[in-house]
Amino acid sequence: MNKLIQGYEVVIGFETHAQLSTQSKIFSRAPTAFGAEPNTQACAVDLALPGTLPVMNRGAVERAIEFGLAVNSTIAPHSVFARKNYFYPDLPKGYQISQFEIPVVQGGSVEFFLGDEKRSVRLVRAHLEEDAGKSLHEDFVGQSGIDLNRAGTPLLEIVTEPDMGSSDEAVAYAKELHKIVTWIGICDGNMQEGSFRCDANVSVRKPGAPLGTRREIKNLNSFKFMKEAIDYEIRWQIEEIEDGRAIVQATVLFDPDTGETRSMRTKEDAADYRYFPDPDLPPLVVAPEWVESVRSQMAELPRVMAARFVKDYGLPEYDATTLTQSKAMAAYFEAAAQASGQPKLASNWIMGELSRRVNAGDAGIEQAPVSAKTLAALISRIADNTISNAAARQVFEALWNGEGHEVDAVIEAKGLKQMNDSGALEKIIDEVIAANPDNVAQFRAGKDKAFNALVGQAMKASKGKANPAQVNELLRARLAAL
Ligand code: ADP
Ligand code: MG
Repeated sequence: MNKLIQGYEVVIGFETHAQLSTQSKIFSRAPTAFGAEPNTQACAVDLALPGTLPVMNRGAVERAIEFGLAVNSTIAPHSVFARKNYFYPDLPKGYQISQFEIPVVQGGSVEFFLGDEKRSVRLVRAHLEEDAGKSLHEDFVGQSGIDLNRAGTPLLEIVTEPDMGSSDEAVAYAKELHKIVTWIGICDGNMQEGSFRCDANVSVRKPGAPLGTRREIKNLNSFKFMKEAIDYEIRWQIEEIEDGRAIVQATVLFDPDTGETRSMRTKEDAADYRYFPDPDLPPLVVAPEWVESVRSQMAELPRVMAARFVKDYGLPEYDATTLTQSKAMAAYFEAAAQASGQPKLASNWIMGELSRRVNAGDAGIEQAPVSAKTLAALISRIADNTISNAAARQVFEALWNGEGHEVDAVIEAKGLKQMNDSGALEKIIDEVIAANPDNVAQFRAGKDKAFNALVGQAMKASKGKANPAQVNELLRARLAAL
């Protein structure tokens, strides 16, 4: 159960527009590349010149099928394109072609971890549609222009059930969805360029009450703004209700400068769009053989790979899910696990020390200055008791900063080898016992803390090079013999 905010439960559903990575548009042969001079990538079809007809792009359908297979959806054998009618300067046809009543991808779910809790968000559908153009407001000349380069760009709109209960869960869902579409390669995921845009539908209600009225925050194109916008919207709605006002269904925009959402228009209903099947396009027929041939060409999916990591490497599910955040991270893990023969240690180091540094920098894990092979060598030295964990962190730091390239050489140069000579260690322990009679007395009176203090003293005396397990053992034996 999600925690309540001021006695209210939060309900969130997402609509995400993923731009499909085809070379050409969904119904024309014009290119889809980003950033070209305005109106250089719009052909007669995109300009809606009279007499032109749309032709379905097979690659766009294939990408939709791939998505459906990745999230366990049903691929509709038969789906229909409709006209969504509205007037706007960036829509020269006067309607957008979009699947409405029968979408190509139906049902499915997206699974992810929220902290260490497993969540599943059900998908309603994912449908194919075309993007509109863009109005450019050139304030310095006091004019607005229309750029139709984006008109007709293929989109997959992915719609969830209202299954999310907090901004954190919504962001975790969006990140997981982003991972899936980039992993299978149907979308470049570039949020700044608008390739992956999320609309968050947010409502609040008292527990047990029917769903509240929602407001839809449009075009969230960064995970940071997504969280800020949703949190602001939740607070705003609760305040409105507490002040005795009703929430009016609306489409709102988030302004990152003020951190506030503001109403753009009160929300239209589907009926306002006068949807009807597009007579220019035949129904989209996807035969089972087509689905199977797409399936057979798909790379291993993240959730399948995660299950394999659990089975083959004995990893906890949480580790396996985290390590399959990206193909690069998964490949790094497999290389390090195989080379060291220590999958759990490899997982700990990759999720901890390595991720921390990769996340702090600009370069991805592919460019990490410590390679999977080098990390495996370091892990092997922990596993064979040559160095302690603390010492290994120093070695890692040195390798990361380019102070050395070879694990054993760095261990040698920094004098970090663990003291495994029990004679020398016994001497240290005797000295520590002699120097700390109070702790010894307390230990004999049954105080565990005093024992830990003695271990700490011995570790310190060895300059951190003693093997803590060995210190423990020797110290216990010595104290017992007193
Ligand atoms: P529309 O077609 O008008 O956009 P939908 O019924 O398709 O409306 O819902 C759009 C999105 O809003 C879906 O993701 C859905 O889960 C979500 N949603 C619907 N009702 C609510 C609600 N009361 N609170 C939060 N989200 C909602
Ligand atoms: Mg909608």
